[in-house]
Amino acid sequence: MHKNQVCDSHLCRVCGFYSTEAPWGSSGMDPSFDICPCCGVEWGYEDATPTAIMSYRNAWVASGAQWYDASIVSDGLSLGERLKRLDKS
Ligand SMILES: [Zn+2]
Repeated sequence: MHKNQVCDSHLCRVCGFYSTEAPWGSSGMDPSFDICPCCGVEWGYEDATPTAIMSYRNAWVASGAQWYDASIVSDGLSLGERLKRLDKS
């Protein structure tokens, strides 16, 4: 696996948002299929492969990395602060 693979099961694999409900379940094998309030990815579907994760992230960042769900309060972190969580090498 990639050395920067996410260890924390609560982080969105695309953007590094911390979700109280683990996006892929506690086992990492049982995705919730919820939508990330930060980047808008559908967990278990659009983040199922490293290629899909990079593709979604690149498109999201290219469009300005906007907070996705206005009904949920932002965690207040910058893009860089979230992505740093995914880089645990
Ligand atoms: Zn996300």
